[in-house]
Amino acid sequence: MQTASCCEFHPPTVCGPAQCPACGTLGKPVKRITLGALLKPEARSRIPLQEEFCFCRMATCEIVYFREGEAPFRKDDLGVRVGLKEPQDPTVPVCYCFGWTPQKIRAEIEATGQSTAIEQIKAQVKASNCYCEVTNPQGSCCLGNVAKAVQEALAATRVKGGERR
Ligand SMILES: [Zn+2]
Repeated sequence: MQTASCCEFHPPTVCGPAQCPACGTLGKPVKRITLGALLKPEARSRIPLQEEFCFCRMATCEIVYFREGEAPFRKDDLGVRVGLKEPQDPTVPVCYCFGWTPQKIRAEIEATGQSTAIEQIKAQVKASNCYCEVTNPQGSCCLGNVAKAVQEALAATRVKGGERR
C-alpha cells in the first residue's frame, strides 16, 4: 500500500494510552488547534487549557474529543461532520483539505475505472497545501481513510458490474 503520508509534515504528538470514556476505544492524539478550528463557537469556549486531546475514531460513538478529567466533546459540538463517524453518508468528506468524499471517489471510478484521489492528494501534500490539523476532525493525515474509501468504492463498483476489472 501507499506509505507516504502528510504525517511526515505534521508529525503526530505523543498521547498517553487514553480510552474513550463512552466506547473504550484507544484515542488518537490531536492538538488543541484542531478543536479550536472545528468546534462550534459555543463549544470552543469550553476547550480546556491543554495542548493535547484524544480523538475517538469509533464510527458508532458520539464522542469525538476527550481527555481524562475533562468533559468530552460530541459530534454535535463540531461545526463539521466527521467522516469516520458517518460511514453511511457518502457525501461526508474523507479528505477535508481537498474535498474528497466517498461519492466523488465512486463517481470517478464509475467514469474511468480507477481513482486518482491518492495521487492527487499526495501531489498537494508535496506542494505543502495540506492543512489536516485544522481541516480534518482527526487532526492528522487522511490518506489511510482515503485508501479505505477507494477500496470500498472499487469493490462496490465490481459487485455492481458483476465482474472484476
Ligand atoms: Zn468513543
